[in-house]
Amino acid sequence: MNQTVLDALERPLRDLRISVTDKCNFRCTYCMPAEIFGPDYTFLPKGQLLSFEEIERLAKIFVKDLGVKKLRITGGEPLMRKDLPILIKKLRAINGVEDIAMTTNASLLPKHAKDLKDAGLDRVSVSLDSLSDEVFGKINGRGVRVQTVLDGIEAASQFGLKVKLNMVVKRGINHKDVVPMAKFFREKGHILRFIEYMDVGNSNKWKLDDVYTKKQIIEDIHNVMPLEPIQANYTGEVATRYRYVGSEDEIGVISSVSDSFCSSCNRARLSAEGQLYTCLFAAKGHDLRTLLRSDLTDIALADKIKGIWNVRRDRYSEERENNPINKQKVEMSHIGG
Ligand code: SAM
Ligand code: SF4
Ligand code: SF4
Repeated sequence: MNQTVLDALERPLRDLRISVTDKCNFRCTYCMPAEIFGPDYTFLPKGQLLSFEEIERLAKIFVKDLGVKKLRITGGEPLMRKDLPILIKKLRAINGVEDIAMTTNASLLPKHAKDLKDAGLDRVSVSLDSLSDEVFGKINGRGVRVQTVLDGIEAASQFGLKVKLNMVVKRGINHKDVVPMAKFFREKGHILRFIEYMDVGNSNKWKLDDVYTKKQIIEDIHNVMPLEPIQANYTGEVATRYRYVGSEDEIGVISSVSDSFCSSCNRARLSAEGQLYTCLFAAKGHDLRTLLRSDLTDIALADKIKGIWNVRRDRYSEERENNPINKQKVEMSHIGG
């Protein structure tokens, strides 16, 4: 039975994001800057990662006892985890899961899209920040070309995965790419979502001045292709939706900085080593791996997790201005956005 468990601010839990690795083949400047995530950086050893069986056990508990309906696989780059379709198949078999999505940089999709679809993956959100090789190569920190990502998108579509795009917009770096990206993906028939550059983690040296806000993004597009706002698809949807006037084509903007949405936040995040985070900007997680590897029953484990959710009061984005600028926060590559 799918239950509803409320946190201290009366928010249910509906969406579980599962990071399957902290490794990535990109070094995006806003996420894993190469000067910090260099050749000597130590990633999690295999024994510290949750196994697919452990992830499956937790996902079952989250769905059956805590009310989760949607699962999202993320990373690091999730396709760096070997045999990922095996995990997808296990998750698909869980009663009550309505949707399984994955966030990916798409570089490995040509190799894996078919197996992922066959295993039961519903959709992918592909990250791409520019259509210029020069700009994109600098942002991804590895000189990866735009065509590599477009090939991944093509493979996903070809095998029947639904595709949306995510573009992180950073002022002075790629804000001029907002309109070309909007035009390109409107023509391709894919929904593009613009993400305000966020102060996740401590590695990216975030500054408020670097944020290109929802208002600016919408104005830029509206000047060329008029937009009108549309209703959210469901409570807790983080993207504000807009439609190009006179059509059904739409875009979304995720405005964690300029217009936060903590009051409807129904997400929990599980890191690759089994730490549960109740906020993207949390300093610390809750160690579920130790609990999983103890002799707790599923019922006892569910009670522990309910206890964590019941006392949740996170609303970092609404309180951003009151937080010290150097507050210790978990890195994005640990919990996957
Ligand atoms: N590697 C995969 C990818 O890039 O799609 C999945 C993990 S990545 C951490 C998830 C999403 O977070 C990506 O869309 C990425 O662009 C976004 N992201 C990373 N750092 C960010 C930041 N500082 N602000 C806003 N979005 C960020
Ligand atoms: Fe890797 Fe995704 Fe982070 Fe870029 S945003 S460094 S692709 S995990
Ligand atoms: Fe949710 Fe934390 Fe983001 Fe607010 S800041 S929307 S509580 S993840």
